[in-house]
Amino acid sequence: MARKRIIAGNWKMNMTPSEAVKLVEELKPLVVNDDVDVVYCVPAIDIVPVVEAVKDTNVQVGAENFYIEDKGAYTGEISAPMLVDAGVKYVIIGHSERREYFKEDDAFLNKKVKKAIASGLTPILCCGETLEQREMGVTMDWIRLQIKSDLAGVAADDVKNLVIAYEPIWAIGTGKTATSDQAEEVCKGIRELIAEVYDTDTAEAVRIQYGGSMNAGNAKELLAKPNIDGGLIGGASLKAEFGQVVNA
Ligand code: PEP
Repeated sequence: MARKRIIAGNWKMNMTPSEAVKLVEELKPLVVNDDVDVVYCVPAIDIVPVVEAVKDTNVQVGAENFYIEDKGAYTGEISAPMLVDAGVKYVIIGHSERREYFKEDDAFLNKKVKKAIASGLTPILCCGETLEQREMGVTMDWIRLQIKSDLAGVAADDVKNLVIAYEPIWAIGTGKTATSDQAEEVCKGIRELIAEVYDTDTAEAVRIQYGGSMNAGNAKELLAKPNIDGGLIGGASLKAEFGQVVNA
């Protein structure tokens, strides 16, 4: 079964609402490609104007975060139903920056994955090793642990629809990209894990992205690998260059 490619931008804490709309307009002619799902994961305050700005285009909007309760006394948080009502389709879960700076652990991330799915959002579930773990030779053990914990109790049919992003921490925002062979090796290992825990149909359906300094110069080689179905892009998603990644 052919998996549709998915190129998602992770804007992180960049772009005021007016800057966001300007960027969407600039990218509009550059990201047209019916063979690819194009997603902008944007800061919460940009969601409403960006949803409006991408209306009638091929772009879908994702959130960078949400909280696991539907409503209540959680000052400062945003719920999954709020995102859905605003027109959000995807949500990033388990990004290394949230794991590190906001202490989100796998037990919490598992709740987020389940809540996102139950609410009708597609998780982009991130995993990845530190440079120290790679040098110690425990990359795949670590990734397996993260994914098994984050997906515990999630049904095969739901796993088929989600997106997993392999993002080596040492490659995020550093300009240091994993080689296409390194990225393929881990993405293949993730697919094998899904086949082991679920079944081959599920493993063949789940889309796996690579993320970590992906740009116009390296996207083509990375995306040519059989187990890399797309990219999660930080820095390069804020520039016209994103269009070249979408069309790579
Ligand atoms: C990211 O943060 O998800 C990411 C991949 O960032 P960058 O492309 O800037 O390395």
